[in-house]
Amino acid sequence: MNVKIREDEFLIPFFKENEFIRKQCKICGSYFWTQNPEAEICGDSPCQNYTFINNPPTKKHLSLREMRQLFLSFFEKNGHEVIKPYPIVARWREDVYFVGASIFNFQPYVTDGVIPPPANPLVVSQPCLRFNDLDNVGPTAGRHLVIFEMGGAHAFNYPNKKVYWKDETIRFHHEFLTKELGVNSSAVTYKEHFWVGGGNAGPDVEACVAGLEISTLVFMVYKIINENLIESPIKTVDTGYGIERWTWLSQGTVSGFHAIYDSILNKIFEYAGLKPDEKLLAESSKLSGEMNIESLKDKIEARKKVAEKTGLNWVELDKILTPIEAAYAIADHTKALAFIISEGVVPSNVEEGYLARLLVRRTYRMLKLLGIEDKFLDIIDLQISYWGNDFPNLKLMRNEILEILEAEKEKYEKTVEKGVETVKKLSANLKAKKIFEFPIEYLIELYDSHGLIPEIVKEIAEKEGLQVL
Ligand code: ATP
Ligand code: MG
Repeated sequence: MNVKIREDEFLIPFFKENEFIRKQCKICGSYFWTQNPEAEICGDSPCQNYTFINNPPTKKHLSLREMRQLFLSFFEKNGHEVIKPYPIVARWREDVYFVGASIFNFQPYVTDGVIPPPANPLVVSQPCLRFNDLDNVGPTAGRHLVIFEMGGAHAFNYPNKKVYWKDETIRFHHEFLTKELGVNSSAVTYKEHFWVGGGNAGPDVEACVAGLEISTLVFMVYKIINENLIESPIKTVDTGYGIERWTWLSQGTVSGFHAIYDSILNKIFEYAGLKPDEKLLAESSKLSGEMNIESLKDKIEARKKVAEKTGLNWVELDKILTPIEAAYAIADHTKALAFIISEGVVPSNVEEGYLARLLVRRTYRMLKLLGIEDKFLDIIDLQISYWGNDFPNLKLMRNEILEILEAEKEKYEKTVEKGVETVKKLSANLKAKKIFEFPIEYLIELYDSHGLIPEIVKEIAEKEGLQVL
């Protein structure tokens, strides 16, 4: 939804008192607020590279657990009630399978005023899943994860009861960033934006530091009814602090995965016999601020850019980075799987079960690429122990998680075995008819009837000398 933001939308006392000025990004054209009169770009990806790698702008170096704790206690100190995270399987919304943002917990019943919130204002660190960021998990060096915690500080303002609005929201954010973490105030930009999701919408600012968007502060004023914006009587403060991104920023490690997964990532490297060159990773990571991988073409472009800077050719570089990014993705996906299965989801061909199956297969392919598919369950077990202290349900469900994933792994191996034979037969028939392109209809059919994902079919058919789009 392309909505123009009014020039005075964010003309708040806090910005005025602190001499923030409104500027326009010379690259993307967005308006943003900064204390730095020289600033010319909004500070968000893809307009800027990361400048915090090996150079964190914070005075504290925090683990994910410490960052979560600091975030929750800061808001608690400021009058918010800390609530426990909700399940990751979406319980309220009918249009999604998983919770993708902390506000999902309250849509639509609380945001519509059908029921009151559990506390007001409240704060939560909510595990979220975003499957639409899947292809970026690895290539953006940790900016995108399938599973992450969204720190949500929420206030619900009713016509007869106002809690707080823009000024306080941005003040809290800024105070947490500058006073608690020691980030230099003039290094922060607040980029104007319009947010839409779950039937609600409103103007927001995205807070960026050192090239990384770390939070989004949304002011939900509308309901979307038949594609029209209708003002809602309930005005919701919907903030999303990306706890993993904050953690990464505070550590300045060569990737976000290093900051979040630490010993688990090292174990995956060790299993796979990978000894990453930290200098190269740092270079590539700095540049990944500019990346957004939506297609293979984007990926090659991104590789070429990094190659140019590092003096390698892009094919060589790809050979080095692909296994490392696979290790990153494995760290992320196995955690996501442990969480998903711990809530009773069973991999299948429908609904959330389908997404779980997709993730198992993707993980398995990456493990295979590294030659460590036999370590799948060991890594899952590491995740359960690592996160189980903060999320006890993981430990309670340990046996179920391991059993279900083992069964799913076996199913997948059998599917692939059968599939190889089928694809080989189809390929031979095509070649006999002098057809050298594998038809898209076959890809669809193989997926529907055999559960074979196109990547696997492609791999086999290409070995048989056919072209697959
Ligand atoms: P981006 O544009 O960087 O992909 P976004 O604008 O889609 O992020 P929001 O919907 O604004 O993300 O989510 C709020 C916050 O949650 C973000 O500012 C970010 O800190 C964090 N976040 C969003 N998506 C992810 C992800 N896939 N992995 C880790 N953190 C995320
Ligand atoms: Mg955002």
